[in-house]
Amino acid sequence: MEKKLVTLIPGDGIGPEVVASARQIVEATGAPVEWEQRQAGASVFLQGLASGVPDDTVESIRKTRVVLKGPLETPVGFGEKSANVTLRKLFETYGNIRPARELPGIETPFSGRGVDLVVVRENVEDLYAGIEHMQTPGVAQCLKLISRKGCEKIVRLAFELARAEGRHTVHCATKSNIMKLTEGLLKRTFEEIAPEYPDIEAQHIIIDNCAHQLVKRPEQFDVIVTTNMNGDIISDEASALVGGLGFAPSANIGSEVAIFEAVHGSAPKYAGKNVINPTALIASAVLMLRHLNEFEAAATIEAALLASLEQGKTTRDIAGDENALTTTEFTETVIANFGQRPSGWEPRAYRPLRLPEVSDAPDFVKEPVRRVVGIDVFVESDLAAQELGQSLEGLVAGSHFRLKGISNRGTIVYPPTGALTDCIDQWFCRFTFANGDEPSDTDVLDLVQRVGAKHRWMHLEKLQEFHGEEGFTKAQGET
Ligand code: NAP
Repeated sequence: MEKKLVTLIPGDGIGPEVVASARQIVEATGAPVEWEQRQAGASVFLQGLASGVPDDTVESIRKTRVVLKGPLETPVGFGEKSANVTLRKLFETYGNIRPARELPGIETPFSGRGVDLVVVRENVEDLYAGIEHMQTPGVAQCLKLISRKGCEKIVRLAFELARAEGRHTVHCATKSNIMKLTEGLLKRTFEEIAPEYPDIEAQHIIIDNCAHQLVKRPEQFDVIVTTNMNGDIISDEASALVGGLGFAPSANIGSEVAIFEAVHGSAPKYAGKNVINPTALIASAVLMLRHLNEFEAAATIEAALLASLEQGKTTRDIAGDENALTTTEFTETVIANFGQRPSGWEPRAYRPLRLPEVSDAPDFVKEPVRRVVGIDVFVESDLAAQELGQSLEGLVAGSHFRLKGISNRGTIVYPPTGALTDCIDQWFCRFTFANGDEPSDTDVLDLVQRVGAKHRWMHLEKLQEFHGEEGFTKAQGET
C-alpha cells in the first residue's frame, strides 16, 4: 500500500514527548503513514535563523502538504516573530479548526451538559496579521486587516465542516456592532453565503455574548465561525469547558497544506519529565488521519483514547501526583485499548471535508465605481486640539482641502464638542476635498507639504466611496 508522507516537527519543550506519543499510536494502527522529520522553533532561532522555519522544513511541507507538529516556543513581547504564525502564513492555512467535545471520565463543571462544538477560526488575517507601527514614541498601532476573500473562505469552510460532521447550526460570532467595516465584513459575507447551505441553520451572535453563552449554555453551539483574535480567545474558553489545554486539538487548514497541532504551548517546566498529557496531540493526529481519509484508524484511536480516559487512566494534570500515568504509560494504555469504546459514547459519522474553492484573484471584489472624497492625515503633535485645529486651518487656507475635523483615539475633538477626551499626541486630521471633483496626487502632495510645514505627519489614508457608499467610518461624535 502506498504510504502517505507527513512532515513531523517535534517542536520545543514538551513537544518531542507529545509528538513521540502520537506517532507511536498512529503507527500502532497500521495506517499507511510515513514521516519526514524536520525542525522549527527555538532550536532554529538559536542557530540564528530569525524566521524559525528552515528551508528544508519549508521544502518538506511543500512536498508532503501535511504536517503533524509539536508546540514551538515564541519569545513573549520582544524578539523573533512566532514560528507558528510564520508556518500558518507561509502555507496559507486560513482556517483553524478547534473541536471541543465532552470527554468521558474528565470531570468539569460542565460534565453531563453534552458540550460538542467546533470553533472555526480565521487564521491569517485580522490583528494577527501582525502589522504594527509605533506612530509616535508613545503610541503603537496595529492594523486589523480583514478581506472579503478571507471571510468567504472561512465561512464556506465552516459550512462545509458542519456538513462533513453532520452538524446542524453555524453561528457567526463578530464584533460588528463596533467594527462595522472589518468585523462587519465577516457578518455580511456569512449572511450572503448562508442561503447556499439551506440544510444548516445560520445565526449571528455578538462575540462577547458568545463568550458569555459558552459558559452559560455551551450545549447550544455546534459550529462557531469567527475572526482570528476572537477565535483565539473563545477556542481556549471552549477547551476549558471539556478539560482544558491538555485535551484541545487543532487543525490549520489551507487549500494546499494542513498543519495539525495541539492548542497548548511548549510548557517548558515539564519538558523531558515524562509527565505531560499527550491527549491534545493524539487528538490532533486523529484529525490528521481523517484529513488523509484514514477514517478507520482515526476512529480506532479516538475510541481507545476516550476509553482510556473513562477508565481513569490519566496523566498528572488530571490524576494528581498519586495515581498518574507517565506520558509513555498513557501512550501504551491507549494502544492496549484499541478496539475498546467508552460506554454511552457515539462516534460521529464523518465524511471527507470538501474544501471550499474560492478564487485566488488578488482583486477578489471588483468595484469600478469609486471616488476619493478626502484624506485623513495622521499627525504627531503636543499641541491642544484647539491650537492644532486652528493651525491646520491656517495651513490649508487657499488650497482645495478643508479641515473637516480632528479626532483623537477615534473621538472627535475639533471643532470642540465639550467632551472630556484625554488626548494623546497622535491626531487623525480629516480633510475633505472642496473642489467637488477627486483630488489629484498633486493636490494630495500639496496638502501634505502644507501640513508638514509645521507638523510631523506619519500616515495618509484616502477616504474613498465605493458605489456611493462611504468606505470609512466616522469618528465618535463626528457628524
Ligand atoms: P503552555 O505551554 O500551553 O502551558 C501553560 C500551562 O498549561 C502549563 O504550565 C500547564 O499547566 C498546562 N499544560 C499545557 N500543556 C499541557 C499538557 N500537554 N499536559 C498538561 N498540562 C499542560 O502555555 P505558555 O506557558 O503560555 O507558553 C509556553 C510557550 O509555548 C511560549 O513560548 C508560547 O509562545 C508557546 N506556545 C506555542 C503554541 C504552539 O506552538 N501552537 C501555542 C501556545 C503557546 P500547569 O502549570 O497548571 O500544570
